[in-house]
Amino acid sequence: MPEKSSSNVDIFGLLSVDKEAEEKRKQRKELLASTGVKEFFEEGSISIDKRTCWGLECKLCIEKCPTNALYWKTGEVGIVEDLCVYCGACVLCCMVDDCIKVKRIREDGSSERFSKPREIVKLQDKINAKKRLQRVKTIFPTCEAYCERYKP
Ligand code: SF4
Ligand code: SF4
Repeated sequence: MPEKSSSNVDIFGLLSVDKEAEEKRKQRKELLASTGVKEFFEEGSISIDKRTCWGLECKLCIEKCPTNALYWKTGEVGIVEDLCVYCGACVLCCMVDDCIKVKRIREDGSSERFSKPREIVKLQDKINAKKRLQRVKTIFPTCEAYCERYKP
């Protein structure tokens, strides 16, 4: 009997993993729809450093989270990962740098990480600049079109 090659791929195994992931995505979408959120980052991660968090004295992130993904559990801030849309609102309001760490994946596969308010502001500025440029390109597809509009 021929030996099984180590490069053999378990297609059925992969298909079932895909199916599970798809099912999980669907459930998450439904869960988030109930909170009124329509657009969100599908993939990402979030963590809170319990050593630096001010916890009970602060709880700002819990107040600001738009999906109630954060909650107060005995002695610390808890996270319901399925409810997190990786928006960064919690990082933006946290008074301790690097306490909340968020990573999110865009549809094109690029990833963004932030753990300080200034990183979010910088990132948002970059995103807005990209959107502005796209809008300009729609209105003025060529340099000539731009010059024509603004010629003295
Ligand atoms: S990233 Fe957004 S959705 Fe996730 S916990 Fe922070 S505020 Fe809530
Ligand atoms: S905002 Fe930051 S310091 Fe305050 S409770 Fe949330 S994680 Fe802790």
